[in-house]
Amino acid sequence: MKHELPVESHVIDLISELQNAGFEAYIVGGAIRDLLLGRKPKDYDISTAATPEEVRAVFGRRSARIIGKRFRLVHVQYGGELFEVSTFRKAPPEEASHARPGFRPSEPLPEHLILSDNSFGTAEEDAWRRDFTVNALFYDPVKSELIDHTGQGIDDIRNQVVRAIGEPKLRFEEDPVRMLRALKLVGQYDFSLDAATENALFACLGLLRHAAPSRLSLELEKILESSYGDKHLQAFHDYGLLAYFLPEIDRAWNTSPAEYALNLLFERNCRVSEGLYRNSVSLAMAALALPFIEFECGREPGTLWESSPQSTAVIRSVLDHLFRPQTMMNRMTLSAERILVLQSLLRDGEDTKRLLDARSYPHARELLLIRTAVADGDVAATAKRWPPGSGSRKRSRSRRRPARGGDKKR
Ligand code: ATP
Ligand code: MG
Repeated sequence: MKHELPVESHVIDLISELQNAGFEAYIVGGAIRDLLLGRKPKDYDISTAATPEEVRAVFGRRSARIIGKRFRLVHVQYGGELFEVSTFRKAPPEEASHARPGFRPSEPLPEHLILSDNSFGTAEEDAWRRDFTVNALFYDPVKSELIDHTGQGIDDIRNQVVRAIGEPKLRFEEDPVRMLRALKLVGQYDFSLDAATENALFACLGLLRHAAPSRLSLELEKILESSYGDKHLQAFHDYGLLAYFLPEIDRAWNTSPAEYALNLLFERNCRVSEGLYRNSVSLAMAALALPFIEFECGREPGTLWESSPQSTAVIRSVLDHLFRPQTMMNRMTLSAERILVLQSLLRDGEDTKRLLDARSYPHARELLLIRTAVADGDVAATAKRWPPGSGSRKRSRSRRRPARGGDKKR
């Protein structure tokens, strides 16, 4: 059906290039959902009839790079932005489901677990293999045409319902990460689960143990990177999923350090949404961990602990506990540790030049300001003394990129 959506012009141009080369091409997934909800999409996922090689031929080797081994897609640099362009795929035959990487052999293999997801198909087949009706809409921005292959996506967006495509229990068994994805929609948009999807989710929660650890870690990274992490965690807790995903945070849920941690994360998320702070995963990790460190060090909220080898050991152990069993984030954990160690060093204020130059200084200062907004204590006085800074020691370059792990299962 005809529908005008405010798609940015370079995205329309990208789709036109594929269509002019003779390939069907659409915007798919979360971007259409967000546009219909009147929100700005985080990024655009593109789906096309062109194979990865054909996509590369359209945009040239310098702009288009084929990535992924089992699931190949193309990263296309276009109009200053990086797009994930994937070829229409169909659901894999069921019997392919019996040797999933990341599966631990001591556990019985759930019957429908997907192994491979790489056979090309039509646009319609591609829509039906997606997770939820609200995520399966296709949009052709050149013709302004919205296509709802499942027939329920538009209504479900209107009624704010998360409905699994097909048989919900089977879909969660095929890929337990879909349960996380369902509850992210609940937390982020205040959607409800439809009854059958909800029953299946309750029946399948334990299967999260069968999901590939790398995918769960990637999900955690995306959750912390987004500005909705506090809402996602709340929905996970409400539905009992947090106990399987981040058991230590779940166990601590109703304690005051946990409430304080969620407030800090919420404060950080507001600043990210307003464009004041970058969406650093390590700052989000540090914000979540901080109240537990204060608690372990016997400090009141907002009161800086002493910097000492003991407090550094507490920082390490809290980070390790809270984010277990998601172990992906060595680099980010180290960076969160640096932000937390800097908290007390900034109070002592010795060797100002070295602290100002520290790579984690900007985030450490941001955390001081977040803490000041959430709790009284000596942290406010410390925060006032420190100027914004660049952390001029070597920093990783940031560039605009789609959230990793988008449309694919690893
Ligand atoms: P976001 O705004 O967070 O990017 P999204 O729905 O676009 O939300 P992505 O991870 O970018 O999430 O995935 C893009 C699309 O790929 C989804 O909208 C959905 O159609 C499909 N998809 C992603 N993961 C799965 C999955 N595990 N099973 C089936 N389809 C999936
Ligand atoms: Mg997306």
